[in-house]
Amino acid sequence: MERDEKKAICPGFTRRHFLGTGTVAGSVAPSIIATAEVARAGVSDKPALVGGAPVKSNTFPGWPVFDASDENAVADVVRGGHWGRGGSKKVLAFEQQFAQLMNGKACLATSSGTTALFVALNALEIGPGDEVIVPPYTFVACVNVILGCHALPVFVDTDPRTFQLDATKLESVVTERTRAIMPVHLGGATFDVDAIQSFARKHNLAVIEDSCQSHLAEWKGKRTGSFGSAGCFSFQASKNLNSGEGGAIIGPSQEFIEKCYTFHNNGRVRTQAGYDFSYAHRGFNFRMTELQGSLLAAQMARLESQSVKRTENAHYLTGMLKEIGGLMPVETYEGCTRNAYHLYMLRYDAQKFSGLPRDKFMKAMDAEGIPVSGGYYPLNKERFLKNSFASRGFQAIYSKERLAKWEDANHTPANDRVCAQAVWLTQNTLLGARRDMDQIAEATRKIQRHASDLLKA
Ligand SMILES: *Cc1c(COP(=O)(O)O)cnc(C)c1O
Repeated sequence: MERDEKKAICPGFTRRHFLGTGTVAGSVAPSIIATAEVARAGVSDKPALVGGAPVKSNTFPGWPVFDASDENAVADVVRGGHWGRGGSKKVLAFEQQFAQLMNGKACLATSSGTTALFVALNALEIGPGDEVIVPPYTFVACVNVILGCHALPVFVDTDPRTFQLDATKLESVVTERTRAIMPVHLGGATFDVDAIQSFARKHNLAVIEDSCQSHLAEWKGKRTGSFGSAGCFSFQASKNLNSGEGGAIIGPSQEFIEKCYTFHNNGRVRTQAGYDFSYAHRGFNFRMTELQGSLLAAQMARLESQSVKRTENAHYLTGMLKEIGGLMPVETYEGCTRNAYHLYMLRYDAQKFSGLPRDKFMKAMDAEGIPVSGGYYPLNKERFLKNSFASRGFQAIYSKERLAKWEDANHTPANDRVCAQAVWLTQNTLLGARRDMDQIAEATRKIQRHASDLLKA
């Protein structure tokens, strides 16, 4: 409605009409379209942030995507009356399918990505006094699961070219207390798997691959989640494979997955008939429901085609943005042979936009109908860390000297810069048509043309 009002105020406005006539052939270079539009439209090239018409008036594809197959999958379970994990058929079938798809030996489904990571750490017996290396450019769950084991998260700086953990900085953070490394395949691209594997081998560390954003991503043709001691996935609502909430661990052996099973099932060991009712270990309830397992199996049928679509659109968009300059997609490592594009991560260069600050640029993009975000804040500077260390449990385990040393070492200058420069588009944006990608490029060009005016506005 607001947009219609603007049109009424500006009766000379023709740009959207021009776009709406369908006379713009899809094959015409977008920069030519932009020039033609400006010429035909006269004054209407104004950025939407300062009262012009937005480049995009419709929305990007929504998320989740579903049809009758998903509805039936859930309805079947509801009608069958068997909703829980005990005596599971649906979750069990999903685990087998998922292990195969992810090139893993075995799989355990869990209640979330967070609990998948927590179960893996516990199955690997990470505990008080241990140090776990983790990137600062990630979701908070990665750090909380380490704190949940009363272990110390140790941050290694970010590679500004890729936004992944900087493997060249690992030797400077390793100590005799380091037990594991938990790198993240961030945004759906891969971390440097070879570098991290050789580092882990050298120092005898467990590798917990956080694959929560990288369903179907590949390193040298092999799927992420299958390289380490454990690979952890999330099926939370925003993820590329989604059941509202949910998670999974891919393991290198059935034996490891059985350890995980016991921990996620209140310490009860799986048997042929179900599980042993006695309590062999400490544990929790992190089980997945049959409703989730069934929905995931249905959703998984779309995973490949959606992934292909995202890749096509990402490549097309990258080509246009490279020509524009100033909003550059992050690089990937040479071994990353498939990017899952959970996020389309970009680096904003204010100099190419007349010094327009990133936050103003993002506001201007939002106003043009292109929803963008600035991504993560520096996680290693959040106060939950200091507050955890000040708690009774941590105080009982760690000396003042050790915590002071941790604090001294907690500097990640490259990550601070990345957090200030990043611009993200989310995965559903890449499920749109080519036209949607053209509009992202067009909004970027428009803001670049008017950057000095926006700076004053
Ligand atoms: C989403 C996510 C998690 C946590 O998964 P949940 O299912 O939300 O608990 C962990 N790590 C990363 C990198 C994530 O993106």
